[in-house]
This record gives sequence, C-alpha cells and structure tokens, in this order.
Amino acid sequence: MRSITTLNLQYAHRFYGFKGEAQYLHGHTGILTIEVEDTVNPGVNMVFPCNEIYKTAWNVLKNFDHALILREDDPLLPAVMRVYEEQGIRLGSPQNQMKGPAFRTPLAIAYPECRVVVTKETMTVEGMIKIVYDLLKDKLNIARISFSSGVNSASQEYAVEKTKERCPLCGIALDERGICPKCGYHKNTRD
Ligand SMILES: [Zn+2]
Ligand SMILES: [Zn+2]
Repeated sequence: MRSITTLNLQYAHRFYGFKGEAQYLHGHTGILTIEVEDTVNPGVNMVFPCNEIYKTAWNVLKNFDHALILREDDPLLPAVMRVYEEQGIRLGSPQNQMKGPAFRTPLAIAYPECRVVVTKETMTVEGMIKIVYDLLKDKLNIARISFSSGVNSASQEYAVEKTKERCPLCGIALDERGICPKCGYHKNTRD
C-alpha cells in the first residue's frame, strides 16, 4: 500500500535557450506529490505517517521554495549572483531564515544562503522529479513522484525493493540500531 504526501513549492525559473515564452524569467506554484510504498505497519496501521514524509521532504526541498532556480550555464546566474554580491546579500541576510541544509548532487546544487538552486538540466517538471528522487531516495521508499506546475505535469514510478523497519508505536523508520529516533522505542528490548 502507499502513503501519499503533497507539498507546494513556489519558485522562479526559466528555460534557458528554449524557443518559447518560458525562456523569460517567471514564477510558479509547483505541486509535488510523493508516494511512499511499503507493507502496512500493523502497530500503527499505516505505511508511513504522512506528516513525517512531509517533514523529511520539506527539510531538503524548502531550498526550492521562494528560490530562483537556474541552469548552470544560464548567463542570468552570474548576473544575479553579482547583484546579490554588490547588495551584500549573496552570503545571507537576517531575513533569510527558511533555509534547508546546502546540498550538492550531480543534478542540483543548493545555495540556501541566497535562495538559489543551480541545476545541471533545465528545470522542467520532468527535471524536478529527477532532482527530488535523487535527494530523497535513500530516506524514503519512494514508489512514485508527480510534479505539476501550471499546465505542465509529469510523474515517474519507481520500484521499491525492500521494506523499511518502522516503529510500531509512532510509525517512523527505526535507525540502524533498531531504535526509534522519535519516541525511543527499542526493537531489541521488546523481543
Ligand atoms: Zn515555468
Ligand atoms: Zn516511535
């Protein structure tokens, strides 16, 4: 069965080099849906608590919210960074607080201090799904990701190979020692 969480991301981007209106800088509210697949955990009668999927995803993905997302070869990128630099906000400002951890994957680099994400490929809905899967695949048993922004939507299915051990009391994934990081349940003391 699947537990499903949806989150919204508001961002600005453009399709650099694209022969269409999207070559101009513009903004969206994107809707991201993450489906997590596993057995139903009998202790809590759920696959995975949706608010925990949300928290895990949002911790990383908030770097895309209220952010500027540009491809690495887009000349707007150095231009924007230069203006931020001259303005003294390139390395942060007291008003910029909704920052996730900086990340660097082969597909995207986050600069949370100035709300910029640099992507390897054009950030289409398809491109975003690849980036999100790459960021979250080790944390969640993702079976499907969908992303829609304006009239554009895409989705991708993934094979889920094995079940994750989850806490029978609160439902979240146990750590490698079999301990629940949330409620302290210890698998081995209950055997
Ligand atoms: Zn767009
Ligand atoms: Zn627990």
